[in-house]
Amino acid sequence: MNWESNVRKVVPYVPGEQPSGKVIKLNTNENPYPPAPGVEKVLKSYDVSLLRKYPEPDCRSLVTVLADRYKVKPSQVFVGVGSDDVLAMAFLTFFNSDKKILFPDVTYSFYDVWASLFGIPFEQIPLDDDFNIVPSDYEKENGGVVIANPNAPTGVFMGLDGIRKILEANRDVVCIVDEAYVDFGAESALSLLDEYDNLLVIQTFSKSRSMAGMRIGFAIGSETMIKYLNDVKYSFNSYTMNSITLAAGIEAVKDEEYFKASCEKIIRTREKLKADLKALGFEFGDSMTNFIFAKHASVPAEHIFTELKKRDIYVRYWNKPRISEHLRITVGTDEECDILVRNLKEIIDQA
Ligand SMILES: *Cc1c(COP(=O)(O)O)cnc(C)c1O
Repeated sequence: MNWESNVRKVVPYVPGEQPSGKVIKLNTNENPYPPAPGVEKVLKSYDVSLLRKYPEPDCRSLVTVLADRYKVKPSQVFVGVGSDDVLAMAFLTFFNSDKKILFPDVTYSFYDVWASLFGIPFEQIPLDDDFNIVPSDYEKENGGVVIANPNAPTGVFMGLDGIRKILEANRDVVCIVDEAYVDFGAESALSLLDEYDNLLVIQTFSKSRSMAGMRIGFAIGSETMIKYLNDVKYSFNSYTMNSITLAAGIEAVKDEEYFKASCEKIIRTREKLKADLKALGFEFGDSMTNFIFAKHASVPAEHIFTELKKRDIYVRYWNKPRISEHLRITVGTDEECDILVRNLKEIIDQA
C-alpha cells in the first residue's frame, strides 16, 4: 500500500442530499419551476447526429448570447460546467501567490475545499454577529479575495458600496464576486467592471434559470482576465461544455420574459414565507436569495431538521460553529412552502 503515501488527500465538499421519491425538497436551492420553454423545445428536436463532432471549444454560441444579454464583449465572457467549474478554474488561474486569499468564515463551503485542493493558503474572515461582511476586514495584504454576494448560506446581500470598498483596497489582486443568487432581487457588481480590472463576476444557471441539472456557469471580467482563464482551461480540458448543454443554455438566456417572471414568483413566495416563519418564532436576516437562513427562538435546529426529514421534507442543516442553530430553507412553490409551514408549526408546538 505504499502508493497511498503519494495520494493527493483531500477533504471533499459535501453536497446536499438528492433523495429519490416524492419528497418536498428545499435543501439545495433548486428552482421549483421548469426552465424556459425554449429549452424543452431545443432538447426535443436536437439533431443527435451532431454528437459525432466535438463541441465548440470556445463555447462561442453561448458566450455570444451572454455577452449580448449582459452588455459586454464576447471576449469578456467565460463559460463552464456550472459555476463550481468556473470558480475552480478561477481559483487555479488567479490565486497563484504565497499570500493568503481571503473569504468569510461563513460562506459557500466549496471555497476552502478548492483552496486546499490547489494548495492555496487562505484565511477565513469572520462575519459580524449579524452575518454581515465587514469590508474593512479585507484591507490587509492578501493573495486574492472571494465574496459570495448575496452570501450563502446566510442570504445576506452587501450593497455595492461594500464591494467597491473591497475592490478599491485590493487593486493588486483578483477579487471574485460569486453572484449565484443575484437575480432574486440583489444588485450585480457587473456595473463596476469598467472601473475595476481586478473584478471577476461569476454567475450560474442553476438557481434563477432552473437548470442545476444542465450544469452551466459563467464568469464576466476584463478581456485580459478571461484570456488567462481560457489559457488554464485549454491546459486542462478544451471541451468542458457539451453541444446539448450549449444549445439549451442559449434558449434559457434568450427568454428574458420567462426568466423575469420566474424570479418574481420566487421573490413573492419568499416574502410570504418570511412572514409565516416570523409568525412561528423564527429569526433571520433579510434574505435576497431563493432561500431563508433561519434560527428558531427556542427549538433547536437539529431537532426541526430531523423531524422535517421524518415527514419527507428536506431542508439543509450544518452542525458547524456559528451556524449550528440555523436551517437553510429553499423557497419552493407556494404549495410546498405552505406544507412546510404547517409541519413546522406542528413540530414547534410539540417541542
Ligand atoms: C449553488 C452555488 C454555486 C454553484 O452553482 P453551480 O453553478 O450549480 O455549480 C456557487 N456558489 C454559490 C454561492 C452557490 O450557492
